[in-house]
Amino acid sequence: MINMTCDFSYKHYREILKKALNKGFIISNFKNSNSKRGQKQIILRHDIDYIPYRALKIAQIEKSLGIYSTFFVRVHGEYYHPFEKKVYPIMSQIRNMGHEIGLHTEARNLSEGFKTNIKELFLLEKNILEKIFDLKIVSAAEHGDIGKPKNFWQNEIFTILNKKEVKIKFCPSDFKDYKYISDSLGKWKEGCLCQNLDTHDKIQSLTHPDLWGEGANEELRKLIKDNPQVPEKHKKTF
Ligand SMILES: [Zn+2]
Ligand SMILES: [Zn+2]
Repeated sequence: MINMTCDFSYKHYREILKKALNKGFIISNFKNSNSKRGQKQIILRHDIDYIPYRALKIAQIEKSLGIYSTFFVRVHGEYYHPFEKKVYPIMSQIRNMGHEIGLHTEARNLSEGFKTNIKELFLLEKNILEKIFDLKIVSAAEHGDIGKPKNFWQNEIFTILNKKEVKIKFCPSDFKDYKYISDSLGKWKEGCLCQNLDTHDKIQSLTHPDLWGEGANEELRKLIKDNPQVPEKHKKTF
């Protein structure tokens, strides 16, 4: 592939995946990751933070290439939740395509406000997704919101919760020996995923569908800027 531009277009997203497949990578979601150990492997993960319809497009591109990833879904996001009339069918379609639905938990952040403990709230979130989408959740990843405290990830939820007790099989820290490549806040800190395919054989890739496709950046900025609950200093991060 000549003249690839590392932008956040769907065209480039497809190019990245094709390049990985051509290089012999097995691309899998969290729940099917074990059987692929020992091979060149990308664990492909998406956090649906704010804008669900953009996740559908990513899901379609992947399916057209025979790739099935994990989409982490929030239960009480500020901008969407899975019960919404417009959101539920999108999530269902992603699920029915064969992708994995995982829990993008906010139990640690929100347990105080709900006056319940983290474990109970986590199980409630998990139970809700299982009921409404008629599936078993085996993977979970924590959501870190804009303006999270500096040491937020040091005390991530699975340093507090016992995975087995909450019947979770996979979480991001299970893949510590994998190279972690993320597009967080619209910046590939370590270079675009496509630039890491020659140097790493084991990759955990996190992309946020909110950032991909035409107009995505503007749409996201507007969403954050117009939200009075987001402090001004955090708006500047975008
Ligand atoms: Zn690239
Ligand atoms: Zn998130």
